[in-house]
Order: sequence, then C-alpha cells, then structure tokens
Amino acid sequence: MSNKIVLLPGDGIGPEIMAEALKVLELADKKFKLNLKFDEDLIGGCAIDAHGVPLANSTLEKCQQADAVLMGAVGGPKWDSMDASIRPEKGLLKIRYEMGLYANLRPALLYPQLADASSLKPELVAGLDILIVRELTGGIYFGEPRGIRLLDNGERQGYNTYVYAEHEVERIGRTAFEMARKRGNRVCSVDKANVLEATVLWREVMQSLSREYSDVELSHMYVDNAAMQLVRAPKQFDVIVTGNMFGDILSDTAAMLTGSIGMLPSASLNNASRGLYEPVHGSAPDIAGQDVANPLAMILSAAMMLRYSLDQTKAADAIEKAVGSVLDKGLRSADIYAEGSTKVGTRQMGDAVVQALNEV
Ligand code: NAD
Repeated sequence: MSNKIVLLPGDGIGPEIMAEALKVLELADKKFKLNLKFDEDLIGGCAIDAHGVPLANSTLEKCQQADAVLMGAVGGPKWDSMDASIRPEKGLLKIRYEMGLYANLRPALLYPQLADASSLKPELVAGLDILIVRELTGGIYFGEPRGIRLLDNGERQGYNTYVYAEHEVERIGRTAFEMARKRGNRVCSVDKANVLEATVLWREVMQSLSREYSDVELSHMYVDNAAMQLVRAPKQFDVIVTGNMFGDILSDTAAMLTGSIGMLPSASLNNASRGLYEPVHGSAPDIAGQDVANPLAMILSAAMMLRYSLDQTKAADAIEKAVGSVLDKGLRSADIYAEGSTKVGTRQMGDAVVQALNEV
C-alpha cells in the first residue's frame, strides 16, 4: 500500500525549500522502499490568487485523506492588506482545526556544530535538546466569544476568551508524557495558574494525569518564569507542555536559542497520528527567489513526518544523520554562516543532503 503525502509548498521561500525536501524524500523513498505517493496542491496566498480562498475545500479533503501533509510556509506582503477572513494564515488555522491537529511538537535542538550561532553563550546552549508540546486547536486563539464591540460610552473594546475543557488538556498532556518517555522522562507544564482560572484547571488535569505516568517527573512553572528560565538556563528543560498562546511565544524563544529559525522543524498531530509537518519559520519574503534560504528545517520536517506519521524510523534517522554530516563538512546557508565555513545556496544545500543520504 502506498503512503499518500500531500505537498503544500505555499508562498515565499516555500516552493524553493520544498523542492529540496522533495529531492531528499525521493531518494529516501528509493533507498528505504517507503512507497511514497506525492500530490502537490496550493495553500496560502497562492491559493487566494488561484481560488479566492487560502485553502480550497478540495485541498482540505485531499489532506484529510492523506497519510501526512508536508507544508512550506504561507503569507507575504502581497496579501497583507486583505480582509482578515481570507488572509493566507487563515488557511493554516483552518487546516489545523479541520484535521484536528491539536498537538504541536516543536523540538529546539542545537546541533553542536552550530553552538556559536546562538545569541546565548555556547556553554548555556551546547547540547540543548528541548521539546515544546503546544496545544494547537484550543485556548484563546479559538475561544468564543471574541471580537471588537462598541461600549455604551462610544469607546471600542477588544475581547477574547481563554477556554480549555478537561479533555483538551488531558489529550495534550498525554502527548507530552508519552514523548517524555522516549526522551528524558521529565515534563514541565507551563501555565498562569496564579491569575487565570482556565489554567488552574489545566494544572489540576496535568496533576491527575501524572498519576498514570509515575515514571515521568512532572513540574509546573508560571509562563513568565518559564520565559526567563528559557534564556537563563534552557538545558534544565526536557519536555515543556503548554497551551496555544503561551506555546506560540515560548517556542519562538526556544527556537532562537538554537541560532537560526532556518534549522527548526515542527509536527502537528491528531488522534490518529496523522499530521501536518512544516518548518517553524514563515515564508521569508525578504529572501524569496534568491536561492539563499536554508532548506534544512524543511528537510528535517520531512524526516519528522517519516518518523511520526509513517513510522519509518530508519529513514528518518538517516535523513537527520545526513543533515549532521553536511554540517560536519562545514556547509552553511547564509543564516548560519560563520567565518571559516563554506557558504552554500538553497539548492546546493539540498544537493549536499541528498549526497550525504546516499552515503549513509
Ligand atoms: P519569517 O520566519 O518568514 O522570517 C523571519 C526572518 O527569518 C526573516 O529575516 C527571514 O529571511 C528569516 N528566515 C526565515 N526562514 C528562513 C530560512 N529558511 N532560511 C534563512 N532565513 C530564514 O517571519 P516573518 O518575516 O515574520 O513573516 C513573513 C511572512 O511569513 C508573513 O506573511 C507571516 O505571516 C508568514 N508566516 C508564516 C508562517 C507559517 O506559514 N507557518 C509562520 C510565521 C510567519
């Protein structure tokens, strides 16, 4: 049986980096007999241009039937002034919501070869390996009621609702505990239980769930402290689990600890381990079309896809090893370039990973 993969390159640098990931996947397919079947479609600004909406229903249906979806990035200045209801980012929110992708896994792993690329001192970040598990389909980003209303005094008031039901907290908690079992056996749950009732409940659910995972150590931290600790002593963390908004912010902080956003993959999974895989970064319109974007986050997202949705551990390991070996050879895209290394473009970097994968 074939493994159906929908490819959604998106906008900006999306198509350039997707082309490199596809080269790598095609070789992995041959080498490890993965039986991959690719189907490419549109999301984001390019879908607005073609269909008037950022995610056509036909594209969504394809994604729902696929074994996994691999996405580049969406958005760009061309669509910035459009009505909020059809902005490129709406396509992304829709696909996450409709596919039930509630668990966002964002590893922040610092390749030892890139320890100098971090803005923190190398000794603080060398060997950093954190996994942030962010709840993705609930919380304040989706809570109702929401909007901007007119008050009696004529002033406008913006409002949103921070909501989490017990089952939403429990399922993301389970993901975090299960992931911790495959890593360092520690989960830090981040909340704001001193101020927000929604997160008092979050903490209670995490505590009661932890009884099922007595082998995993659970700790709790307020989000303001977590933000401080991430830049003070980031290596204290193993798995961090948190809600949608806190996770959005903390995972970008963790990303920067590793030096470049161009190195970081992510996975968003549903109950059936079907998922959407994408680099953490956006569409980088400032460098699009120049063959300078770093394709490694995209390639590592493809490796995560093989690992989590297709259960192809060997192929995923081989791709990650190939990326490591390219870095060992001193090849660097512009975003991670340091004196003494060899600067390469997007295509050259992709070709180098293909060559290294051939040799693994
Ligand atoms: P961005 O991540 O696109 O870019 C931030 C900076 O990082 C830029 O200087 C960019 O050149 C650089 N960068 C990003 N990826 C890189 C790579 N692979 N290699 C080298 N350098 C890289 O964020 P932004 O500038 O805030 O947003 C640009 C557009 O992307 C916006 O329209 C935004 O809405 C969208 N966006 C999309 C997603 C997504 O699709 N998941 C995520 C974030 C932002």
